[in-house]
Amino acid sequence: MTVYTAKQTIDEYAPRLDAAADAIWETPELAFTEWQSAATLINFLREEGFEVEEGIAGIATAFSGRFGHGKPVLGVLGEYDALSGLGQEANCLEKKPNGKNAGQGCGHNLLGVGSLAAAIAVKHYLEESGAEGTVIYYGCPGEEGGSGKAFMARDHVFDELDAAVCWHPGVLNKVRTRSSLANYQILFKFDGLAAHAAGAPHMGRSALDALELMNIGVQFLREHMPISARIHYSIIDAGGISPNVVQPHAEALYLIRDADNDGVKELYKRVLKIAEGAALMTETKESHDFVKACSNLVMNETMQHEMDRIMQEIAPPVPNNEDMAFARELTLKTLMGAPHANPDHPYAYEKMSYDFNEGEIASAGSTDVGDASWLCPLAQLTTATWCLGTPGHSWQAVTQGKRAAAKEAMRYAGIIMGETLISLLEHPDLLEKAKEEFRGRVGKGYVAPIPEGVRPRALTDL
Ligand SMILES: [Zn+2]
Repeated sequence: MTVYTAKQTIDEYAPRLDAAADAIWETPELAFTEWQSAATLINFLREEGFEVEEGIAGIATAFSGRFGHGKPVLGVLGEYDALSGLGQEANCLEKKPNGKNAGQGCGHNLLGVGSLAAAIAVKHYLEESGAEGTVIYYGCPGEEGGSGKAFMARDHVFDELDAAVCWHPGVLNKVRTRSSLANYQILFKFDGLAAHAAGAPHMGRSALDALELMNIGVQFLREHMPISARIHYSIIDAGGISPNVVQPHAEALYLIRDADNDGVKELYKRVLKIAEGAALMTETKESHDFVKACSNLVMNETMQHEMDRIMQEIAPPVPNNEDMAFARELTLKTLMGAPHANPDHPYAYEKMSYDFNEGEIASAGSTDVGDASWLCPLAQLTTATWCLGTPGHSWQAVTQGKRAAAKEAMRYAGIIMGETLISLLEHPDLLEKAKEEFRGRVGKGYVAPIPEGVRPRALTDL
């Protein structure tokens, strides 16, 4: 029996993979309610003979699909949740809502299926080579605002892994070489006493005042934070709509970020003091709820380097003329002035070179892949799914989500991830080196940032 490369397998599966990505695009679902999107992936895994376990970590739309036996155990992480308010027609040169309440503004329809492609490629390799090893596809829900993987990591889902890979749609073909920030998301509530704002103001205790004072306190704190830290907030509840009432309740959602979990924890203690101070000043009652957290990303140069070596060997797809023309128009009409947008060369389909610098400052965002990266050596890449200048979480990303170029870039990511895992199966010394590096980087190991007992919640359920 000939052993297929990941490219041969994924090329053969292209029509089915593309159809699955389109199906998920058509059923955009918000964090932790991804029933149909999960079903599309679960059915595919079952048809391919993977042993599927649903509802892992007690999360209804989280699942795993396992194939093979014995060590090493290799993981591929997939996501499939969508973003609210981004319902948008596909292949459209203008913002045109399609009547759906959510849309794939982060390309997770492609993310979930590109990772599935890699798992299937490894399955074929294991089957045809007779090699020992296990590949597990993880269906990870609620990436957007939910940190699904951090809950899964806390509940030991990733403990058995020897290594893992994943990817994210983007505008470049590049292996990820920068870390990301850890974060906590906390809901702060103030309770006061309603009263007539003119007739009996002294009888009222304003929760809204408390919330405003808290925000001011945090504003002063911002001057005294490490350079890597960020604090954001949104007001969920400002009391009521009547200005002649002293507002008896107010709520804000705080997102606190820093370079690592310890940094976030220290900052969180200071924010708590500010909230308590605001309650003291206003004679209101403060309470808070831990919503979610995620860890910083642990780099693994051994894995990244191998992934890059493989990427440099495999030619990236070049978008066809129709995709080029569409991207040119989209750029001219809506993306001029966006970073790197270029109507003369709308897609950066060339491969980027590897640029890992030890100690480089983390990129400003966070990802729940971070928690998985604390449990095993992990590498990620991005591929040129969208044209240059396409902002994440935008209607332009949604509208490009079904194009041929997007799906080819998805399969390209699948091929590179698949080949990376196959290389680890073929070179136990390389896997050992990656694990040794991993042990050095995580030191005493993973401490889950999410306290026991905190359950995943969709932001709409706060
Ligand atoms: Zn995303």
